[in-house]
Amino acid sequence: MKTHPAEGAVAACRDADPALFFQDRPGPAHDEKVLAAKRLCHGCPMRRSCLAQAVRRAESEGIWGGFTTPERRRLREHAARMRLLDPGLVADLQAGRRIQVPASLRPALVHRLHGLGWSEVRIAEALGVAPFAVRAAGLLAADATLYARAEDEAASPAGARAAA
Ligand code: SF4
Repeated sequence: MKTHPAEGAVAACRDADPALFFQDRPGPAHDEKVLAAKRLCHGCPMRRSCLAQAVRRAESEGIWGGFTTPERRRLREHAARMRLLDPGLVADLQAGRRIQVPASLRPALVHRLHGLGWSEVRIAEALGVAPFAVRAAGLLAADATLYARAEDEAASPAGARAAA
């Protein structure tokens, strides 16, 4: 069993059973335990640095910063798409051109368009999708943004010192 990431006195899980955060493998009451762990993480002031530790160590198990291993994998991909988003796609939409955007790129694009002040309805119309799809993409983009910041923290000299 690996040790739990909580290192600071303010970690929301400081008094929790570390096993709660290692529920990657389905078992009895798996879903409830994962939800209980995530609830703690979502209110934790150390969330980003916890996630940065997982990024730095390329953790392959456990819930870190509120995300399971498959979720972290998915967020890493979305964070990369956000960094590499083709500006031409945004320019096309700003020019009012109708383009087909793969669902995998939607969170990155929604994030960029929100940043430009576009409303949910305007984005939905431009992409030809329902507003709830834009909302879902926006939520995913928010998590991917947190992941990207954790990656930055993990790569920073201060992050490297913390890992030493
Ligand atoms: S984010 Fe979750 S796992 Fe990490 S320190 Fe906080 S409560 Fe613990």
